[in-house]
Amino acid sequence: MTTDLAAFAKEKGVKYFMISFTDLFGGQRAKLVPTQAIADMQEDGAGFAGFAAWLDMTPADPDMLAVPDPSSVIQLPWKPEVAWVAGNCVMEGEDVAQAPRNVLRRQIEAAADEGLHVKTGVEAEFFLLTPEGDQISDPFDTAEKPCYDQQAVMRRYDVVREICDYMLELGWGPYQNDHEDANGQFEMNWEFDDALRTADKHSFFKFMTKSVAEKHGFRATFMPKPVEGLTGNGCHAHISVWDAPGDAAKTNVFATDKGEGPTGELGLSEKGKHFLGGIMKHAGALAAITNPTVNSYKRINAPRTVSGASWAPNTVTWTGNNRTHMVRVPGPGRFELRLADGAANPYLLQAVIIAAGLSGIRSKADPGKRYDIDMYAEGHKVRGAPRLPLNMLDALRAYDKDKELKAAMGHAFSGAFLKLKHQEWASFVSHFSQWEKDNTLDI
Ligand code: ADP
Ligand code: MG
Ligand code: MG
Ligand code: MG
Ligand code: MG
Repeated sequence: MTTDLAAFAKEKGVKYFMISFTDLFGGQRAKLVPTQAIADMQEDGAGFAGFAAWLDMTPADPDMLAVPDPSSVIQLPWKPEVAWVAGNCVMEGEDVAQAPRNVLRRQIEAAADEGLHVKTGVEAEFFLLTPEGDQISDPFDTAEKPCYDQQAVMRRYDVVREICDYMLELGWGPYQNDHEDANGQFEMNWEFDDALRTADKHSFFKFMTKSVAEKHGFRATFMPKPVEGLTGNGCHAHISVWDAPGDAAKTNVFATDKGEGPTGELGLSEKGKHFLGGIMKHAGALAAITNPTVNSYKRINAPRTVSGASWAPNTVTWTGNNRTHMVRVPGPGRFELRLADGAANPYLLQAVIIAAGLSGIRSKADPGKRYDIDMYAEGHKVRGAPRLPLNMLDALRAYDKDKELKAAMGHAFSGAFLKLKHQEWASFVSHFSQWEKDNTLDI
């Protein structure tokens, strides 16, 4: 593990470090620091005016410093003279409480205090569009059921192969790539890891995918629903909890809790069920973070897509190996949360999963009845399952009402997030749309 960035630069021939942090809206911000200045920056951090990013600061606030976490450093495989490193935001010697990577680090500590170590894998779906972003990049990618389209994935082989080669080089353990369920949509999978490492990789994956796509003359987007009527960009998270972090992990606590183990319902231990119970209990509020944009609500609660299914949830329900619910238990010892979309902030996504899961474990939350039905066709048969929020305002209100989750995520974070997101909602509703005119002009 890298601890000294100057030595890393010397060994790898790095000329510039990109000291990066992620703001509350998921935007990645960075300073490019020449190698000769990195030793000082590693100690003191790179300076930023926090107000200039989405962090809920004022122009009068003192400098914010992003102090690089050297264990996160990645040499850009497509530009090896530059290395990316995630920074932890600090102001006047204190962690900036609302900065997403700090929010996640706090959740990881809270879990560790209870002997729990969360590992996750994410599936960050994306579209390849033309550079203007208004069309699918491949004009021949028009099939009604384009999932796993062999010919279409090969037409974008140069992009997919390049990204996958880089993940191989970085040792992420990529294992499959495919054309997904929408025209122009792809998914690339790599191995799960500790939550902070997955969040860093997830951030870097977005940066890498956009960069490689641009290099090939395309535009990659993780927007939740970039094309009306087609399947949107999900960002499913698979979750398990272990007895120790990193390579020291031996026992999957979700699979074998005190010998109750895989004989539990669908191979989930008691702890696993309670963690899941926390996710179910807080789902409406969770959506504010896992589905954080106006556009997110065009993906969940969506009508049937051209391909036949949206593959996104509409209600707070769980099941076994069945992709029509919010949570799927694909096999023993883990579950898949299918709620999040491509706009989810990689750090806040992990943080809110841990916060909700810990709340569930503490309160021994019951995930409720499991439904082994096709939710799209038979959803009406399920009585009492809450619907997911119908829009961003609905979700923000659910988050605001969920006192326990708000407190668990931290009041400074929750206050800042709600304030900025309510401003965004106000900006959206003050925008005049063609729909309004079409439906109101002649009233
Ligand atoms: P699917 O499309 O069937 O939902 P994928 O293969 O696309 O699944 O993605 C599965 C993700 O789950 C990968 O990142 C994988 O490493 C991860 N995963 C597998 N097992 C576990 C586990 N025990 N804990 C956390 N993540 C896991
Ligand atoms: Mg300046
Ligand atoms: Mg997948
Ligand atoms: Mg997928
Ligand atoms: Mg999945």
